[in-house]
Amino acid sequence: MVGPPLLEVKNLTTQFQIDNGRYSAIDDISFSVKKGETVCIVGESGCGKSITALSIMGLIPSPPGIPSTGEILLEGENLLEFTHSQMLKVRGKDISMIFQEPMTSLNPVFQIGSQVAEVLINHNNMKKSEGLKFAVEMLQKVGISQPELRAKAYPHQLSGGMRQRVMIAMALACNPKLLIADEPTTALDVTIQAQILELMKELKSSFDTAIVLITHDLGVVAEMADRVIVMYAGSIVEVTDVYTLYKNPSHPYTGGLLQSIPKMKKKVKHLNVINGSIPLLSEMPKGCKFHPRCSYASDKCRKERPPLKEIAAGHEVACWYAKELTLEGVQIV
Ligand code: SF4
Repeated sequence: MVGPPLLEVKNLTTQFQIDNGRYSAIDDISFSVKKGETVCIVGESGCGKSITALSIMGLIPSPPGIPSTGEILLEGENLLEFTHSQMLKVRGKDISMIFQEPMTSLNPVFQIGSQVAEVLINHNNMKKSEGLKFAVEMLQKVGISQPELRAKAYPHQLSGGMRQRVMIAMALACNPKLLIADEPTTALDVTIQAQILELMKELKSSFDTAIVLITHDLGVVAEMADRVIVMYAGSIVEVTDVYTLYKNPSHPYTGGLLQSIPKMKKKVKHLNVINGSIPLLSEMPKGCKFHPRCSYASDKCRKERPPLKEIAAGHEVACWYAKELTLEGVQIV
């Protein structure tokens, strides 16, 4: 994957006002996404994955959210400096987002054809009849059978998998440069999940769309990612290509996530877990945020926060001992 980054996130911080305090849900994160690249963001619930996506989209509700600081550069233009009406043009056209539960994202009282058409009417200045025709084509592209008929259906008349296909059709209708998918298959059963992932891969290659895929499912990551960003408690702790991540994880949190994947061929009494849980925003530990759960933690870890540093080409880790630790990886099948 060559060329300049499509998206560059620099020192992004998003805070929330809770009672009398301001707390950072994402804390000074920086990463980039190239054209046509799939970058997966992984981590436990509450680690800041979705807040990262919503910050990029400019969809953090305020209050309690406080406007993000840092830079979100889309082809060099800082989205954080855009006005509300400029962002309305970006969303849906340049950047689209698919949410976890399609039923809550589709309007229950409108036919799905007109909901897909609305995106085209708003962003591509299509007439209603043109938009509806194109919507049927998009439904066909995402593998919905009898698209003319389905275009007249209401969301509740479709299955979960079909509703997610509709969301993908809406998201890709204007051929966005970047698609952000937040746990797009979590609410679906495994066979439909596989079909949706396959569909996203196909559409990515035909539309050359970059994808930021947010997931806590390491199976999905292995299937989809070119590069992986691991987040913990609002910070990025490891970034690398998907093969290095699985074979040679260098942050103890990544190692713990990989070891918690059940192994088909190995009988065990107990599954591996990472002890403890993600700290509350109001109770963030000093030093390395992961130290209360880390079996390698030293006094230095408890006092000083490790920066994200490159330990090999394209492999960045935020751990004082990243180069010294030998963590067990897993094989990608
Ligand atoms: Fe563990 Fe210390 Fe590395 Fe943090 S810096 S992950 S506590 S070894």
